[in-house]
Amino acid sequence: MSSPLDLMTVAGHSGAPAPLFVHAHPDDETVQTGSLMAWLAAHGLAVSLVTCTRGEQGEIVAGVLPESTTPAELVRVRENELAKAVGTLGIAQAFMLGTPPARAAGLEQHDYHDSGMAWIAEGLAGPADIDDPQTFTASSLDDEVADLLALIDQLRPTVLVGYDRLGSYGHPDHVRAHELAVAAAQKADLPMIEVASEPDAEGFEWFDLSDQKQTVISALRCYATQLRVVDDQIVHVGGQHQELPLVVGLRRVH
Ligand SMILES: [Zn+2]
Repeated sequence: MSSPLDLMTVAGHSGAPAPLFVHAHPDDETVQTGSLMAWLAAHGLAVSLVTCTRGEQGEIVAGVLPESTTPAELVRVRENELAKAVGTLGIAQAFMLGTPPARAAGLEQHDYHDSGMAWIAEGLAGPADIDDPQTFTASSLDDEVADLLALIDQLRPTVLVGYDRLGSYGHPDHVRAHELAVAAAQKADLPMIEVASEPDAEGFEWFDLSDQKQTVISALRCYATQLRVVDDQIVHVGGQHQELPLVVGLRRVH
């Protein structure tokens, strides 16, 4: 039986695999790939993360923050939640896209804003009606690729890990993060591993990482403004229930 490590190990690369995960918002690393990141870290890998936005458009769990919380304060809260989850999962280094070293050389820091989403069908997200040229999806993909390549140049990961083209549930930022990771992997000539959006999707290898359950629950609990964990299920701020991400489907695409 192969393990995620086998998939992460690059033929001809003698050192330990050093995966760089590309995620859209704070909480995605835990909600989508928490067990995988924790498993890899527990097996001694230097796991890195780049998060593309600060989740400014995500709703807030009622009663967790004062009503007077400003958008700028929410950003700080979400950054702190992310930092705690990163520590809990054992992630070695975490970066924000647009902030050096994840910023093209010579350019000032640039914050890519959360693009938001609207439900267009049961469990499927589509674009929100937001007029902001600085959102992650309104920004230039070429600029974003240049920023990610700058990080890759410094960090020297051996493999990128990101969403498949469905972007877990269609959130426009997740789909863009997929496009970004694929484009950067091709330009940097790095292998890319996609994480399956749908359970039992064909063409993926499936791994049961239930031994990371407690770590994943602890990391999820860092996100008090976004979700709750009830009876071993994630309850999102909008009320949607989701199974803990303990079984992951992976495939190498580049
Ligand atoms: Zn997300």
